[in-house]
Amino acid sequence: MIQLIKLHDRKLAGWLSSYIERLDSGMAERALAICTSNRVWDYHQSRSSVGANIEGIQNIFYHVSIEWPAESALPDPHRDFKSSCSCDSKKQPCVHAAALAIYRILEEDRQTFMKGTRILGNDALDARFQANWSTFVKKSSDTPPAFQQVSGNKFSLRPDLQPLMENYSRQIMAHFRASLTGKNQN
Ligand SMILES: [Zn+2]
Repeated sequence: MIQLIKLHDRKLAGWLSSYIERLDSGMAERALAICTSNRVWDYHQSRSSVGANIEGIQNIFYHVSIEWPAESALPDPHRDFKSSCSCDSKKQPCVHAAALAIYRILEEDRQTFMKGTRILGNDALDARFQANWSTFVKKSSDTPPAFQQVSGNKFSLRPDLQPLMENYSRQIMAHFRASLTGKNQN
């Protein structure tokens, strides 16, 4: 199997191996690549499902959700989840839904790990934390804010959003002219 991701929690790691093993290897690789190259956006969990927008090639975003009740134990990794995705793949799951299931496990592992590494209450660690914190504060005050490093000509518009942008600017200009003349020219 592919081993790219290290998990802290053994139960979650076991679940993930079983899940990945049942995907075909091409899909498993692509789904893992989506998770490790930060292409999962707006990850959110509700009572009955998890969802995200997944960035595909050429800046296309797919809206994905899978049924996965928040309070329940881990589902059987060998059975399909009910999933929906805005891509046109006929595969069940599609690569985006598979990526989201993997991401769900990574996220749970991360949260479990964070819970286990609370440093409050330990004086030695608190002192080290304070020292690191003041180094961080000093370093970040020496660095100019990000907006001062942005250069306007590095922006490029997505061509598919161009008509939308033109439509918005037309509407804004119409309101602007109307406010100047006191008449609504919309
Ligand atoms: Zn999809």
